[in-house]
Amino acid sequence: MKPVLERPVAFDVARVREDFPILKREVNGHPLVYFDNAATSQKPQRVLDAIQHYYQDINSNVHRGVHHLSERATKAYEDAREYIARFINARHTHEVNFVRGTTEGINLVASAWGRKFAKAGDEIIVSGMEHHSNIVPWQMLCEEKGARLKVIPVTDTAELDLDGFEKLLSDRSTLVAVAHTCNATGVVNPIEFIIEKAHEAGALVLVDGAQAVPHTAVHMQQLDCDFFAFSGHKAFGPTGIGVLYGKEKLLEEMSPYMGGGEMIEEVTFEKTTYNKLPYKFEAGTPHIEGGIAMAEALKYVESVGYDNIHAHEKNLLAYGTEQLLLIDGLRVFGQTPGKTAVFSFNIGTLHPYDIGVLLDQQGIAVRTGHHCNMPLMKRFNIPGTCRASLAFYNTKEEIDRLVESVLKAQDILM
Ligand code: PMP
Repeated sequence: MKPVLERPVAFDVARVREDFPILKREVNGHPLVYFDNAATSQKPQRVLDAIQHYYQDINSNVHRGVHHLSERATKAYEDAREYIARFINARHTHEVNFVRGTTEGINLVASAWGRKFAKAGDEIIVSGMEHHSNIVPWQMLCEEKGARLKVIPVTDTAELDLDGFEKLLSDRSTLVAVAHTCNATGVVNPIEFIIEKAHEAGALVLVDGAQAVPHTAVHMQQLDCDFFAFSGHKAFGPTGIGVLYGKEKLLEEMSPYMGGGEMIEEVTFEKTTYNKLPYKFEAGTPHIEGGIAMAEALKYVESVGYDNIHAHEKNLLAYGTEQLLLIDGLRVFGQTPGKTAVFSFNIGTLHPYDIGVLLDQQGIAVRTGHHCNMPLMKRFNIPGTCRASLAFYNTKEEIDRLVESVLKAQDILM
């Protein structure tokens, strides 16, 4: 299935910002500068409208009803799934499973694939720059099954050590779980290479795409990964909804994740048979308006156009890196070409938390701490960083405000 793209309009950041009501507000007496997009993104009006439309006009439970509203809700929800399948270029619509987010997507695979297929002596490979949600579920699985967790080393430049990765691969490797883009630094991994090498060794690949989809097009058939998880809320959609893509054959083979309504075909006290894909993995009433609004968010991204997003964010990254590095003692972690517009920085021995609080007083939202990526912080021997993570609605003027406010914070704290 090819994505059906809406025609992107010429990119005008001022015009794009008009679509996001929250960007007009002030915080602590200053116009908001929202630089915490890697934690969650802001939502355009059409996403807010989609949620309101759902509750105002078609609210009803899906799949079971014969009445008008249920049919409308079911159609909107299933249309959303179909759109998302095209958006990520999946082969089949039923390869798109709605989940709560990336975390649940990864847990679903660790549980439903792992319970059935993982065994003692297997090796599961993660990387040294994973979000905790792509470490802990695998650790739990390894503990339960007597499998071993192997870790791809991270270089001094905050990239994956690919030689180290190849050395880890063997006929014991059963699954490689790796982030497309690192949440703590914005470094983009050579995911095609990793998938190819893992497949050559006979291992499956799960890609954590949480930080990819807001910035770059992803094509499942081209990537050929086995699983791909991402969250609606990081890609301009609502919280509590995300997608786990999986190849049809694997999803068919896997056990269900949770038991309950929706996921069954027939229930007796002796035996239950399960529903077909994707409902097999969607027990209970789903996040109906979430699925609908997530598709709306991706339609919005499509209307802006990934080419425009890339070009604009690339300019912001280059400008911001240049300006921030002029600050005495400031170190940016992860500066590899092609990374997303994330500035993960420390200044000398100043605590990132103190900088974050002073930036907030200037109306600038950044995140401080370990970014749910403690092993990477340990790799660099730091407690955390101050992370400014940008989206396509951010501007050069906002970067100027950041630099100015960092200098002010430095003055106060030194
Ligand atoms: N993986 C990465 C790379 C992330 O950045 C995040 C969120 N910070 C997650 C997984 C977890 O996403 P969620 O909380 O939406 O499930």
